[in-house]
Amino acid sequence: MSQHITITGGAGFLGSHLCDHLVAQGHDVLCVDNYFTGQRANIRQLLGNSHFEVLRHDVTFPLYVETDQIYNLACPASPIHYQFDPVQTTKTSVHGAINMLGLAKRVKARILQASTSEVYGDPEVHPQVEEYWGRVNPIGPRSCYDEGKRCAETLFFDYQRQHDLDIKVVRIFNTYGPRMAENDGRVVSNFIVQALKGEDITVYGDGTQTRSFCYVDDMIEGFVAMMATEKGFTGPLNLGNPGEYTIGELAETIVSMCGTRSRVVYHPLPQDDPRQRCPDITLAREKLGWEPKVQLHDGLKETIEYFRRLAD
Ligand code: NAD
Ligand code: UDP
Repeated sequence: MSQHITITGGAGFLGSHLCDHLVAQGHDVLCVDNYFTGQRANIRQLLGNSHFEVLRHDVTFPLYVETDQIYNLACPASPIHYQFDPVQTTKTSVHGAINMLGLAKRVKARILQASTSEVYGDPEVHPQVEEYWGRVNPIGPRSCYDEGKRCAETLFFDYQRQHDLDIKVVRIFNTYGPRMAENDGRVVSNFIVQALKGEDITVYGDGTQTRSFCYVDDMIEGFVAMMATEKGFTGPLNLGNPGEYTIGELAETIVSMCGTRSRVVYHPLPQDDPRQRCPDITLAREKLGWEPKVQLHDGLKETIEYFRRLAD
């Protein structure tokens, strides 16, 4: 059945793919975004569609609309962007959650929170399971994001316990693909943009830290499958690709796939950069029958082609 669906952060990387997916399924989608890191170009293909509407709005202010479902994605996700104005980042996570939960309460909408693997901080449990409470520095440069997202999870569960809200919380692990901004600053887009320009590939630290990279199409399927679960299944639920790579391996792979002469150079490791990260997705497999299908090589190929087209 066609639903009215609100997507905050809908002009961003993940949000715009989610808008495409839900409009294609026949839903009426309202994209809410303040364009801090999002771009109109990401949603240009939907602008003439009568099932799609855009609202320039900052989620730190209340929002009054009618809606059946809310996907709350608004928040800068790249360290350089979320550290640019850390107070606003915390406000976006915390006030944004309060405002969207208030909206969900008023109109009795189901609401999904885009949480993050960053709630596990620099983890001692590996791979990370949902039961792990994490190891997060509360006063460091990443805290505005990590603690903001942790507080948002707290608010989601308190609204559920206190007001019986129909909540869903997914913890997203590093996701990449077309429509990441050229200046996004996260590792996959940085390395691809650098490789295509023949510039140095900037590895932070010695490149032995690990991450697990999920292709965007898999992630969007995970979001939609989670939203469709029965009331009472709240998560938190990990979504990500359990294939784990060192940042050094990623750099080599991208250099070889781009066929570039770029050299790998080493920069200082940013403070509190997690040593390792890999999702345990047993719960997502069991509850959603979901697992990623796209191999890193195939996803990188699509992403490299996207950035090549942008450069043309
Ligand atoms: P993104 O930066 O491309 O998208 C975020 C969007 O939110 C942008 O369009 C931005 O303009 C918008 N936004 C920021 N502050 C806002 C505000 N106050 N009001 C309204 N809109 C605002 O990042 P993304 O990768 O698409 O991430 C989307 C969500 O998923 C974020 O909540 C992020 O924390 C979460 N997440 C993403 C990843 C990932 O690897 N991509 C990993 C973990 C969590
Ligand atoms: N990184 C890197 N070079 C870059 C950008 C990032 O070596 O140009 C490293 C970063 O230090 C981290 C990993 O890649 O260890 C992933 O960084 P990203 O910002 O993509 O995400 P997060 O740290 O939030 O997982």
